[in-house]
Amino acid sequence: MNEFARPRLVLSRCLELEKVRYNGEKIAYEFVRELEPFVDLVPICPEVEIGLGVPRDPIRLIDGKEGVRLFQPSTGRDLTVEMETFSDDFLSSLPPVDGFVLKNRSPSCGISDVKLYTAEGNPSSAGKRAGMFGQAAIDRFGDVAIEDEGRLRNFRIREYFLTKLFALAALREVAETGSMRDLIDFHARYKFVLMAYNQTRMRALGRLVASGSAMPFADLVAAYRSEFAAALGTAPRYTSVINVLEHAAGYFKNSLSRREKAMFRRQLERYRNGRVPLAGPAAVIWSWVVREDETYLEGQAFFHPYPDELMSVSDSGKGRKL
Ligand code: SF4
Repeated sequence: MNEFARPRLVLSRCLELEKVRYNGEKIAYEFVRELEPFVDLVPICPEVEIGLGVPRDPIRLIDGKEGVRLFQPSTGRDLTVEMETFSDDFLSSLPPVDGFVLKNRSPSCGISDVKLYTAEGNPSSAGKRAGMFGQAAIDRFGDVAIEDEGRLRNFRIREYFLTKLFALAALREVAETGSMRDLIDFHARYKFVLMAYNQTRMRALGRLVASGSAMPFADLVAAYRSEFAAALGTAPRYTSVINVLEHAAGYFKNSLSRREKAMFRRQLERYRNGRVPLAGPAAVIWSWVVREDETYLEGQAFFHPYPDELMSVSDSGKGRKL
């Protein structure tokens, strides 16, 4: 099996790590402990960084006359400039990163579900949006793997997030080696993943690799990375994933018993109905790969897009928009 590149991951510090929340607490989040052996964490708490202590009075986003502001009702402080300046300085100082896991609903870290209030002190909400740091991260690193901890409790979202996170880390390593051979190998290894995510972009990526020596390697790999990140920019349709699984199963059509085929069909149905993650039917095919020594499929990242230790299933996989 492949060794995995180590993703560089920015993480809200209150997730499992430290008691830096406004109430002096942290959020228990086992996923961080599971990730730790496989990623390089960059923990950050924007509110502590701008000088708010722990504990502190809550802050909120308000829809002011001059746009969205970050405001502390109890003190009347407008923290917008501090947070914008910190976000800009911090994000521009980062080395290349592959992803973010940020606390949901936070007026600083949230990426989509933060309450926006209509005016200072007004208890009614005027909709939802990203927090101030979360929005800055999206603006600057929009094509890396970005999720909030609430959404990542859903196994399908987690599967999609981890696939992209580890793929971008592997591609970053390819860029660092400067080796055309490594880029060709990467493209071959991610063939089935790309088939599932976006076949139009898969073909465009194939043309880029084929054009190889027509441009300097640094430009080529930058163009490849941009197209690859766009290909993995949205979660794959489950029907496309099923097509890839069926395509892979076709490699064994002459060696499977009727019972094996029936077992695979059952796993596909369970995946189609959102009852098991992709790892379910993929594991069935993997057992055939090992048995038959099918070396081409063995090299496909589709079957092991990230370490097996991260494949835990802790929810139904339903109920959240991918
Ligand atoms: S959500 Fe962000 S700003 Fe709030 S405590 Fe956690 S890391 Fe700090």
